[in-house]
Amino acid sequence: MIRFDYARPGDVAEAVREGAGDHAAYLAGGTNLIDLMKENVARPLEVVDINRLPLAQITDRDDGGLRLGALATNADTAWDERVQARYPLLSSAILAGASPQLRNAATNGGNLNQRTRCYYFYDTDTPCNKRVPGQGCGAIGGVNRIHAILGASDQCIATHPSDMCVALAALDAQVQVTGPQGERTIAFADYHRLPGDEPWRDNTLTAGELVTAIDLPPAEFATNYTYLKLRDRLSYAFALVSVAVAMRIEDERIADVRIALGGVAHKPWRRTEAEDAVRNERPTESVFDNAARALLAGAVGQGDNSFKIALAHKAIVRALHQAAAGTPQSQTDKRIR
Ligand code: SF4
Repeated sequence: MIRFDYARPGDVAEAVREGAGDHAAYLAGGTNLIDLMKENVARPLEVVDINRLPLAQITDRDDGGLRLGALATNADTAWDERVQARYPLLSSAILAGASPQLRNAATNGGNLNQRTRCYYFYDTDTPCNKRVPGQGCGAIGGVNRIHAILGASDQCIATHPSDMCVALAALDAQVQVTGPQGERTIAFADYHRLPGDEPWRDNTLTAGELVTAIDLPPAEFATNYTYLKLRDRLSYAFALVSVAVAMRIEDERIADVRIALGGVAHKPWRRTEAEDAVRNERPTESVFDNAARALLAGAVGQGDNSFKIALAHKAIVRALHQAAAGTPQSQTDKRIR
């Protein structure tokens, strides 16, 4: 048996004090951390249960945006009337992920901090630099169908598994955190990181920092958007490739656009060059094709996952067409149209 201390703080300041140690872990919905502890992948010496903290609300912001509490569940967020009306891209992405049971338990903060689903990361009999620094990477030269084609390093080719985070990247969300040094705001693009030579670091949080909320800027993308997710099964499967598009059309031209990819890198993948290729243009196949090329520039297959490069290209073009036409992918009727 692996022993750990358990704390159940009543406010954020107490939680941060409890969570400041190197071997502490915050527990919310537990849909990932408990699995990792059962598999002996995560071995925290102190589990700080944050479920009593007052962080489960979804509230309007003075600037017209929305604040999603870190402990609001993924289900409550996806079905919130304000999220559905003003940020349907986010609602769609959440509903594309996991299962209803998991979404009822999983929290927004936990969604950001969930760990990769790389098979080798979970199998303690195989080498993994993310689990044990310096041990090697079983996926490079191994079975790597689900792995990264962009932003990988020679130490890790894992992908980030979230759907919600792909939409949050496209929406330019901000992450509110509190830690031993106080409060700070992290732009979503800076929250997750590429593996580089420190693949064990999934994000830019420092020791003891706790996600308290996710802020959405005032909405502009409630009509022309889509979250297109391609996967091996039509439900309860992680993305091979997913595409979040938020678009604004004025006078038959694309006045603004955001494009983020999931399932292809260690973090949600955006490139300004791809969005520049679309902005102020008419929604045509050649414009969307240029955007896909820019977004996938430098993509490298690892063998089993090389198919993802062509798949991602087609998915980007299809998603841009869907968004431009205002015909977003349905997450309840999942037939690919
Ligand atoms: Fe570990 Fe990353 Fe390699 Fe997977 S891809 S085995 S997570 S180092």
